[in-house]
Amino acid sequence: MDGTFNENDLSRIVEADRAHIWHHLIQHKPFETNDPRIIVEGKGMRVWDQKGKEHLDAVSGGVWTVNVGYGRESICKAVYDQLMKLCYFAQSAGSIPGSIFAKKLISKMPGMSRVYYTNSGSEANEKAFKMVRQIAHKRYGGRKTKILYRDRDYHGSTLAAMSAGGQDERNMQYGPFAPDFVRVPHCMEYRKHELDGAPDANFGEWAADQIEAVILREGPDTVGALCLEPVTAGGGVIEAPEGYWQRVQEICTKYDILLHIDEVVCGVGRTGTEWFGYQHYGIRPDFVTMAKGVASGYAAIACMVTTEEVFAMFKDDADDPMNYFRDISTFGGCTAGPAAAIENLRIIENENLLANCTGMGARLDANLRALMDKHKVIGDVRGKGLFQGAELVLDRDSKEPVPEKQAQAVVADCMAQGVIIGVTNRSVPGRNNTLCFSPALIASPDDIDQITDAVDGALGRVFG
Ligand code: PLP
Repeated sequence: MDGTFNENDLSRIVEADRAHIWHHLIQHKPFETNDPRIIVEGKGMRVWDQKGKEHLDAVSGGVWTVNVGYGRESICKAVYDQLMKLCYFAQSAGSIPGSIFAKKLISKMPGMSRVYYTNSGSEANEKAFKMVRQIAHKRYGGRKTKILYRDRDYHGSTLAAMSAGGQDERNMQYGPFAPDFVRVPHCMEYRKHELDGAPDANFGEWAADQIEAVILREGPDTVGALCLEPVTAGGGVIEAPEGYWQRVQEICTKYDILLHIDEVVCGVGRTGTEWFGYQHYGIRPDFVTMAKGVASGYAAIACMVTTEEVFAMFKDDADDPMNYFRDISTFGGCTAGPAAAIENLRIIENENLLANCTGMGARLDANLRALMDKHKVIGDVRGKGLFQGAELVLDRDSKEPVPEKQAQAVVADCMAQGVIIGVTNRSVPGRNNTLCFSPALIASPDDIDQITDAVDGALGRVFG
């Protein structure tokens, strides 16, 4: 037997999974007694597993990715047509879908100008980090190499991205990390009591001032960039408080620090109304990285987008033959990515999904807030658009997180009801207590109500 079997032979597929697949981010011990879950099919908001069970997917493919929903024939056709014409050529040359998508993308991002194609969110962030380092050497005599990142933010799984990782549980045992990444405090209003000296009023400005304090401590001439999520995702679904972003922009301008916004989760409509999270806050980033929603998971594509000003620093220079970005990403040259991304953008525009995201996000928020009356365990509801979190606490005054097992039990109960929700996962030790909701941007009112009804039932059963 060479091990081949038919794609319909699901029991052997499960067996092969158990024998050979190393799943991401989970423990494998339970598979010794339980079957691993295999998702077989998807359509719209729903997926089916190997047992034929239907699930409403309230997390867009588990990690906020499938923004336009499953089974989009027009994206599949665009990818097929492009692959038949040209599947790949290294990005040192251009491609037709690459140019078309870049033009469309830049038209949604005033002030930005250049798109660097790559494979994953981690890699897109690494590109920006490398550019910051190269700029430091080229322009600042090797100073300004430091990159600031924030507690609770996540920027990826590769070692430099983890060096900018504010989620200790993910980083544990993977060090040592790259030098010159420096942490700044988070800006989470709900947990401001955990930050020394946090005021009752104007917390947003105060939280941004803490970044300035780190810059002054490190020396402004050593700090090249500040990397932030516009709304922190896995670290707890955290929107920065009023006044924060304006101060962040002022600080970056004052100390000549490049602002890198990681839109890997928020990008391409997830927060509603605007294409990108940062566009809600009137800031002017120097780098914007994106991945998950760019092609809604129909093809692997990520982008590092920057300004013409940054690009100009890397142009060939007769006096310096090394002054170009000496970097490549093999699969940045796959044409399936931009072909899928063009059609993904078209769907979002044609179906008015930015507006739907805002409307359905408001419904999700209102439903979750209504549950707070009944379930005292919900300490806080927060988020933007179809990107919401509900933090579970033992007591609303002390805000002590519920044990993680209980938060996971809520997820498992929803799963049993046929609704897939998420919980902050392997991020802040002991603090993975925020339920996460990120349904596709096509969600209907009934879908939203089904999600929150499932949560209502699950909270009742888990917490009584
Ligand atoms: N940045 C953020 C905010 C993320 O949430 C993630 C992944 O979850 C990444 C970067 C890394 O993206 P990838 O897994 O595509 O490398």
